[in-house]
Amino acid sequence: MERQAFLYEGKAKRIYATADPDLVLVEYKDDATAFDGEKKGRIANKGILNNKIAAHFFELLAEQGVPSHFVRHLSEREMLVKKLQIIKVEVVARNRVAGSLSKRLGLDEGVELSRPVLEFYYKNDELHDPLINEYHIYALKLATKEELQQIAEQALQINEILVKYLAKRDIILADMKLEFGLFNGEVLLGDEISPDTCRFWDANTMEKLDKDRFRRDLGNVEKAYEEILSRLTGGKN
Ligand code: UDP
Repeated sequence: MERQAFLYEGKAKRIYATADPDLVLVEYKDDATAFDGEKKGRIANKGILNNKIAAHFFELLAEQGVPSHFVRHLSEREMLVKKLQIIKVEVVARNRVAGSLSKRLGLDEGVELSRPVLEFYYKNDELHDPLINEYHIYALKLATKEELQQIAEQALQINEILVKYLAKRDIILADMKLEFGLFNGEVLLGDEISPDTCRFWDANTMEKLDKDRFRRDLGNVEKAYEEILSRLTGGKN
């Protein structure tokens, strides 16, 4: 499947049309941004690593009965996905206190939550993705009740699958951001699952193996992404 017209450029990916109107090609870039695009940089080979990591997670989820937009891996930096009508809600699933939750509720980073927490953010760069709840979602018509119920169910199921899978690889899934869209009226997981969108902590050392290394200038960013891929594939990547 070859790329055709360029459609859209986001912070970490470029999207191209394909010969099939239902499918688009995603190209993963090395560009990295943080703090709403205030901090910009590049992480060497990030596009290649995230393309592999995201494909691995999408395949794992498909095996466990959770479909996504993922169709197949195409090349080092490209994957083929179903063209979704994106739902403008970012869904964050949390297992440990970190980032904005730590600030908002004054809790120490690392504290285990007694049960997973789901949060919704309005996907709007100008407004810096504000926190919203289900009432805002219905009032703004971002999703219907039925769609949001499916989103929440899938998000919790994805979280459970990934927590277990990663624990076996000595990785704590502290939190992650998911995006969903509609394909022929069905709610489907979209975007990516990668160290750009998740907090991965080494279960033994609590070392951060994700984009927080870039956000907080901790160094060895590429190495951390490589470590995640290698733990997922058992070094066979
Ligand atoms: N996240 C993301 N994109 C965003 C905001 C958050 O992928 O625009 C991810 C982030 O990497 C983390 C989780 O969502 O894994 C929760 O992020 P948080 O709300 O703590 O925000 P932060 O303070 O990290 O920006």
